Amino acid sequence: MTKNIHALIIAIDGHSSCGKSTVAKDLAKKLKIAYIDTGAMYRAVTLYALRNKLISGGEIDKEKLNTSLKDIDIQFRSNVNEGTNETWLNGENVEEEIRTLEVSNNVSQVSALGFVRKRLVELQQSMGEKGGVVLDGRDIGTVVFPNADLKIFMTASPEIRAQRRFDEMKMKGQNPTFEEVLENVKNRDLMDSTRKESPLKQASDAIVLDNSHLSPQQQLDWILEKLTQMDVDF
Ligand code: C5P
Repeated sequence: MTKNIHALIIAIDGHSSCGKSTVAKDLAKKLKIAYIDTGAMYRAVTLYALRNKLISGGEIDKEKLNTSLKDIDIQFRSNVNEGTNETWLNGENVEEEIRTLEVSNNVSQVSALGFVRKRLVELQQSMGEKGGVVLDGRDIGTVVFPNADLKIFMTASPEIRAQRRFDEMKMKGQNPTFEEVLENVKNRDLMDSTRKESPLKQASDAIVLDNSHLSPQQQLDWILEKLTQMDVDF
């Protein structure tokens, strides 16, 4: 029987900086479904913690962060002019600020905390439960929506991923070295896949997409082809 795309949940998990958000955004635009960038939510909590001095020298004040969670409001709002979805933290557009190396260097410690994950997973589930949504992250197919209709696990070599992230940061006027970015990508992979709470891992029913040598258009076509094979109407 033909399936309606507006009832489906698509989960895209994978390593850091492998282009999950690019393909998820392209897919959402093409299919006119919602896009939830779960990494942006962990980044927003990290930004809040940094601004409020709840992290210093890499050490997190867990107790204070835990009690502060109720004061952290995260929303996605669409920017009609840019055709993009932006992350807002307590009424402020933080889409740019959550992508700095400072946030990237602290986010994996924050996302390893069980109480942070519990809160954000609940939020993600309530945002996506009706379907017609694509979510990208690390634990979407394993924890957030284990019954997702299509699960994709994306990866590419660390050097290719670091180069992409480096080019993106340069374009935004940030000034990291390639080595700093590569180190961050490798560290996050290691921390994300070895943490106790919902580590990054491929769901047993996920399909692997290695995009080392694929253009964004080829990745989009690859996913659309999978949906066609599933008899999804879009
Ligand atoms: O996807 P992005 O690289 O922006 O994610 C930032 C960080 O947030 C990851 O390195 C990971 O530590 C955390 N994350 C997570 N679970 C998710 C999404 C992101 O732990 N579902």
